[in-house]
This record gives sequence, C-alpha cells and structure tokens, in this order.
Amino acid sequence: MADDALNPTTIFRAKTIITMNPARPEADHVAVRDGRILGVGKLAELEGWGDYRLDERFANKILMPGLVEGHSHVMEGTFWRYVYCGYFDRLDPDGKLWPGLTTIEAVIERLREAETSLADAEAPIAGWALDAIYFDNRRVTREDLDQVSATRAVGVLNASCHILNVNTKTLELAGLLRSGINHPGIPLGRDGLPTGELKGPDAMTLAGVHVGFDRNLLAADEDGLRQFARLCVRRGVTTATDLANLLPDEAVAMMLRVTGDDDFPARLVALRRLQNLSVPDIIARAKELAGKSTARLRLGIIKVVVDGSIQGFSARLRWPGYYNGAPNGLWYVPAEQLREMYRLALENGVQVHTHTNGDEATELVLDCIEEALRAHPAPDHRFTLQHCQLADAAQFRRMAALGMCVNLFPNHHFYWGDQHYEITVGPERAERMNACATALRLGVPMAIHSDAPVTPLGPFFTAWCAVNRRTASGRVLGERERISVEDALRTITLGAAYTLKLDGEIGSIECGKRADFSVLDQDPRELGGEHLWAARIWGTVLGGRVFEAAAI
Ligand SMILES: [Zn+2]
Repeated sequence: MADDALNPTTIFRAKTIITMNPARPEADHVAVRDGRILGVGKLAELEGWGDYRLDERFANKILMPGLVEGHSHVMEGTFWRYVYCGYFDRLDPDGKLWPGLTTIEAVIERLREAETSLADAEAPIAGWALDAIYFDNRRVTREDLDQVSATRAVGVLNASCHILNVNTKTLELAGLLRSGINHPGIPLGRDGLPTGELKGPDAMTLAGVHVGFDRNLLAADEDGLRQFARLCVRRGVTTATDLANLLPDEAVAMMLRVTGDDDFPARLVALRRLQNLSVPDIIARAKELAGKSTARLRLGIIKVVVDGSIQGFSARLRWPGYYNGAPNGLWYVPAEQLREMYRLALENGVQVHTHTNGDEATELVLDCIEEALRAHPAPDHRFTLQHCQLADAAQFRRMAALGMCVNLFPNHHFYWGDQHYEITVGPERAERMNACATALRLGVPMAIHSDAPVTPLGPFFTAWCAVNRRTASGRVLGERERISVEDALRTITLGAAYTLKLDGEIGSIECGKRADFSVLDQDPRELGGEHLWAARIWGTVLGGRVFEAAAI
C-alpha cells in the first residue's frame, strides 16, 4: 500500500456504509477513483484494485448515499438577504438560528427594525416566509405593512411563494392603487382598492420589482447559489434541484461557472419553468439546455406549475372544495397549453415535472398526459407530479398505469397539517394528503421533498415527517399513510434520483456510481422513526471531494 496523496485511489474506512444496493446493503470500506466508486466491501476485497491511500477520518462515521432533494429552489440561498418573517425557528446558511414570529405585530416589529438600519430613504424592504394562516387566517393587508413604512415600498413574500403582501406605497408604484381592477389574483377591499395581497405570478411580478424581488424571483445569483450549496452540505445533500428557474443565458453561464469550481459542494439539477415562452420554443430551449449539462449541473427538464397552494387557497380542488367555504383556487396554465406541452414533450423526449397541489389540478394533468401518451406512447418518460398533495388512491392508480412518478410533500403535515385539518380541506382529506404509503403500495415511484425555501431544506426532517406525519400541535395526521424508516431513507436517496433519471449515477453506493456520500455521526436506522429528524450530519463527499459542514 502506498500512502501517497497523488495516488489515484482512496479507500475510505467507515463504521458502517449504508449502500442502498440490495445486493450488498452494508459495508465498511469504499474505494474511490476519479470521483467514482471503484468498489464497496471489505478492505481485503478492495485491495484487489491495486495501490491505494487509506483514509480513516470516517472510521467512526456512517456513510450513506449523498441525499437527493428532488424539489427545492436555489433562491433559498438568496432569501437570507431579506428579512425572515416565518412562524417557525429557522437556521440560516451560517448556522444562525432565527426565532419564529408568532404574531403579525412581531412581523411588523422585525420589519421595522430592518427599516431603521437602512441608510437610503428610498430603499425598499422585503421579507419572506410570512404565513397569515397561523394568525387565525387573518389576511395581512396593506394597512398592516404601512405600519412598517408609508414612504418606502414594503413587500413580504408568503411562505408558499405564491402570495406577495405589499404596502400602499408599493401598490402606488406598481400602478395598482386604483379602483376598477378585475383580476382573480388581486383581491379588493371594501373601498374597492386592492387589499395589498397579490396572488399568483402575474399579480406578484407587477409589484415585486418595486420591493426588491427581482423580476426573476426564482433565480439565484452567484452568492445565493454558493449560500444554497453551504446549506446542502449542512443537510447532507449532494444533489439538489432548482425546480423553477427561467434559465436565461447569463444565468446558465453563471451556474456552469460556479458549479464547475472544484470547491463547489453540490450537484444541481435546474429545471426550466414554462413561462414567457411558447410550448414549441420551450421544448427547443430544453433540448438546447440539455446539451450544456455537466456532471455538476444538469439541464433539460421542464417544470410546469398548474395551480397555487392549498394553505393559500389558490390550489384547484375538486368538489366539495375548501372546508371553510373559500372559493376555488387559480389555474396558472390553460388546459390547452398543458395538452400541447405534454404532447410535444413526449414527441421530443423531453421530461416534464408538473406542480399540482389540489386534486382537480392533478386530475386535469392526468387527463392531459393520458391523452398525450395515447398519441405518443413513450416508455420510461418518468413525467413527475410535484407536490400532488391531495391525490386520492384512484389518482395514484392512474399515475402507476401511466408510468408517472410522484414527489410528495410530507413536510406539510408538520407546518400546515393542523390548518389543513381545521380550515383548508377538513379532517378526512387532511389525513390522505401526501399519501406516501398508498403511492408505494400502488407502485408509483416516489420522492419526498422540502420545497425549500417554502419549508427548510433537510431530507432527514422530511423523512421524519413521512414516517410520523405529526403536526406542529402533535396530532398524527393519517396514521395509515405513515411509511417505514427504511422506505423513507430509500426515498430521499434512490427515490428522488429516479424522478430525475439519475438513479444510474447517484442514489446508492455501488461500483461505477459517483462518489457522493452523506457523512453522519449516527446511524439513522438506530435513531429510529421518532428521532430521525435529529440525525447529526458531519458533512458530505461529492465526487470523492470531502466537505465538512463546520468548515465551509
Ligand atoms: Zn417549488
């Protein structure tokens, strides 16, 4: 054995390696060469590959396949520049804990504090992660935010990112402070003027630019991208998605450059959102982008958003609609465009991930995909429904029959489960939300996600949610839809990789795959379902390069 730093082969010794390879589920050594896994097994077996350098720094650690976050947004890294207005405590990329704000007064107070620190009298104030549903669903109005400032633009993005609340000054700057507006995303007050709540991308974009949210809110700049990658290391994530980027040329060039740096600690899969382009044009763009893919930046998948969010009452629900009688939500895409999207995507071999929250939106997508598949049968298309929170068993059966995947959102049970039970969809449908056990039983390939920044990035927490389905108040919401720890761990590795067509490359630790590991202080299987969320993460290994969370 040669102990030479230049030796092309490193063998890592670990306490336990959980491989996710059913043929060899556990091991204690993994050999890495050229960023890939040369072999997994006993040291004596791996010695057969020739000279190596033995790295024992993980001798007391657990290695798992690097975790895969199948639905996140890199803008989480950018949002930390704005004022955190969320209800729950949250860690920032530096590891600082921001206390949650449990009243609207506390939100106004924190925004006011930010206001006093601004030197520029014209500068806007932007916040994020607000959710009025925790304040007895009292809607936040422009008058509320006028208390922060009457002279500056003030805007706070809702936790779902589907609603923007603004003050009077912002409405004025956006040309919206007038009567006679007739838009489903712009509710009016008794005075006939907008209340300051703006729902959906059209309405939000009009005002967003004035409060400092860029027109391309869903993209991150270089600094945001690097911050996001630091969060990934802290959470044991080696591959994350940027699920709704508009991917203009400059952004793609920046992302290729930054992810190409050897110190960049994550792989990204960036999807092009259907917006500002016709369907034929976005198909052409997706194919062009696919050609630019690298090992650390994957491009070429399209994202379509069909409705809004359930807790924002902008999701499209089937009969009997919202439990509290709220009017049905919003369609973000006309059905005709959806049909064209799936038809042309299948014809061109382009993968599509589709956001649906309400079951009416899910039903429409299933109808459109079924029709498209009849015209263009396509084996292994892996069209994936994202969120798909309210799907019932019949809809999961259709997904299985149509060869679709699903990426469910069990974090909702913790963050909004009590509200779903009491306000939005009522007890019965709240219990079937994010029906992970049904999806697995019916053979629908499944991932689970955080939708960061909507909820915090952290696949072990997401796995805990899927295993326990516990709400913030402690209610178990849908006992029968809980899944095992083993299934949850497979879902946050191979499960998510499959939906991205990357399961041949990442998601398990076996010969030939990329050397992407999550490095843990404890074996998550020994922690058990109850404590899975608390799995201590030391860092990650990406393509054989080691990243320690405490040192990044
Ligand atoms: Zn999302």
